[in-house]
Amino acid sequence: MEGLSLSTPTCQHCRCETTDDLALCPRCLRTGRHALSNIAAYYADLDRVPTGGAPRRSRSATPDPTAVAAAAIVLDPVTAADADATNTLRTWARALVDDRPGISPPPARVPELTAWLAEHLASVATLPWAGDLNRDLLGVERLLKRVAERARTGNYLGTCGHDLDEQPCLQPLYASHDERWVTCRCGMRWDVGVRRQQLVRAAEDELAPVAVIARLAAVFTGEVSVGRLEVRIRQWSARGKVTHVTTKVIDGRPRKVYRVGDVLDLLTSDTPSRGAR
Ligand SMILES: [Zn+2]
Ligand SMILES: [Zn+2]
Repeated sequence: MEGLSLSTPTCQHCRCETTDDLALCPRCLRTGRHALSNIAAYYADLDRVPTGGAPRRSRSATPDPTAVAAAAIVLDPVTAADADATNTLRTWARALVDDRPGISPPPARVPELTAWLAEHLASVATLPWAGDLNRDLLGVERLLKRVAERARTGNYLGTCGHDLDEQPCLQPLYASHDERWVTCRCGMRWDVGVRRQQLVRAAEDELAPVAVIARLAAVFTGEVSVGRLEVRIRQWSARGKVTHVTTKVIDGRPRKVYRVGDVLDLLTSDTPSRGAR
């Protein structure tokens, strides 16, 4: 029914007023676009996630008439997240093709699908299911973020910096403590020990709160628990072994900041040796 509608059009995502019968307001459209680019980035990170040594389950060749065996197969988190993201994006791509016949055919893989959806997002905003799509995109973004963050269990070694056509490579590097070499996605291979020393030298004179220094210190000590390092540094501070330089407001709270080099020096001189009696 065309008729006069007395209700104002509202954004299906945030419920704010919209114009031109748009199902998504410009702000929520940006949110959706942002989610799509994050999905592409997190999806690329899935390759780095350790699967905990458990090989990805392959389908069994034995007959399974009751389907009980199939139901019992638990996908590893990476495979499950990959399948979930792929299914969700493909489902919405099909919905868009149904509503907009003549549109370019959607690609099959997540990296290209996110680009394809982003390209057509403005057109989606006039469709009644735009709010549902946005909600699903944010869900996929959260899921991939959670899984991809496991890829970051290694220690941060700064950005690569390899010269690519006069532009430094900005890819962040991570290595766990037992790795000697780290290979960047650009193909450059770095000596982990050398990168660590460079990081110390660059960070020595910086001022940072305990949480940041603990994260940095984990790189050098091989301590897996950043929380444990934080406790140690706070104890040193309480005992006057290290003194904060000043107080800075970080994330809305005043925090004591220390010279990174002072804390790292203490760490190397005060590392308890388990073999010592
Ligand atoms: Zn909105
Ligand atoms: Zn690189």
